[in-house]
Amino acid sequence: MIRSGDGTTDPIQIKKGVLQGESASPNLFNIFIDGIVDELYSAPMLTGIKLHARIIHILLFADDMVLVAPTAATLQRKINIAKRFFKRRGLKVNLSKTKIVVFRKSGRIHKDDVFFFGNRRIDCVKEYTYLGAPFFSNGSFKLTAEHFKDRGLAVQGRVLNILNYAKSYDVTLSCKLFETMVRSTSLYAAEVWGFDQSDTLEKVQQSFFKRSLALPRNTPNYFLRLETGRLHTRYTVFKSMYRFWIKILGSSDGSLLMDSYMHLRSLEPSPTTSNWCSSFYSTLELLGSTDVWYSNNFALAKAKEGEIMHKLRLALRTEDLVSCMNSSTMPHYHNLKNPETLIEPYLKQRLPRYLASCMAQVRLGYPTLCNKGQWHKLGSWNGDPCRFCGLPESLLHLLEECAGYDCPRKKYLGEISSSCNVLDLLQGPNWIHVLRNVYFFLCDVLSTRPQP
Ligand SMILES: [Zn+2]
Repeated sequence: MIRSGDGTTDPIQIKKGVLQGESASPNLFNIFIDGIVDELYSAPMLTGIKLHARIIHILLFADDMVLVAPTAATLQRKINIAKRFFKRRGLKVNLSKTKIVVFRKSGRIHKDDVFFFGNRRIDCVKEYTYLGAPFFSNGSFKLTAEHFKDRGLAVQGRVLNILNYAKSYDVTLSCKLFETMVRSTSLYAAEVWGFDQSDTLEKVQQSFFKRSLALPRNTPNYFLRLETGRLHTRYTVFKSMYRFWIKILGSSDGSLLMDSYMHLRSLEPSPTTSNWCSSFYSTLELLGSTDVWYSNNFALAKAKEGEIMHKLRLALRTEDLVSCMNSSTMPHYHNLKNPETLIEPYLKQRLPRYLASCMAQVRLGYPTLCNKGQWHKLGSWNGDPCRFCGLPESLLHLLEECAGYDCPRKKYLGEISSSCNVLDLLQGPNWIHVLRNVYFFLCDVLSTRPQP
């Protein structure tokens, strides 16, 4: 019965299905459905998918059911067996939620991909969401990663709005909100599908921190990670894969998880396609830790986790520092970046947002500046000369050189002499004070420079 503000209704008889949320429902469902497994496995000459030591005809999880088969004809036979079973038990199948996915390299649907449930046709689709993750008919997780990237980006807007309420920039809070609200969405079950997809997933982190600091989209990714002390998303994905691996090794022999793993592990490595095991192995190889892979041992894998993750952290950070050393787009940055400093101190000082953002932009040294929500392109972006003196217009030109801006320079940056450059000053003992002046100077320059 239903209770409402006006009292309770008459009892309602449930004649179909099981009660939602009722503790007996899963068991009732399982008891009802269990017979289909026996029927499939006792059917003569019915081929399934071979995974290590077992043959799979059907996957059952809660009220989800997946029939798997190596050929179209076999799949149709299995559907027929299922149909007869449901009919005998008086169960109805919701055909609008029932789909066929044919996994093949091209991912295309062929015109002879035709399957029937009785006399009703079942739709063939290229994509199906199973247990919360979309699977695609080409067997690749590239589009799965795109799907979760978009999900992460959609959540990000709301989180950035929350952060915007705070007047000061707090990198610790930003990281925490990013990890709990954004990353948890974009890396949902990524230990299963995220191998080889971390460059796509990294875009979520890049976009989040670039937007929170008002940095241009084309800011090098390593700059953002080195400034904020973040690691490439590859780290998080690999860490969750490693935890998953420990879980697999700890599962019992003959479990579905173990059999799937042993099957993937036994496949010949191919130069063109990778699978979970080959991708996991290649990272271990990179870190010089293949011994733990060959041991295939639960206790050793667990004991080595800390050491291996530490090696990966170092490797990823070194990669970023090397990109910074070799950068032709921002050659000044390696002079600014102290490799010992994980998070740049100005991001931890709870500066007003506009100052933190100004500092990041000046350190980035790009010819694009965002001020009060407006983007300004400096001339060096497209080769335009300075609107005052005709020399190439760059950030340093405005800050240090151009005679056209002598007046605001004297007003705000009086202490910057020709012998001492702005970037040095920004790291000096008075940098918050200097930074405020640099900010006011840039506001003045951007609003008063002649229109082109
Ligand atoms: Zn000039």
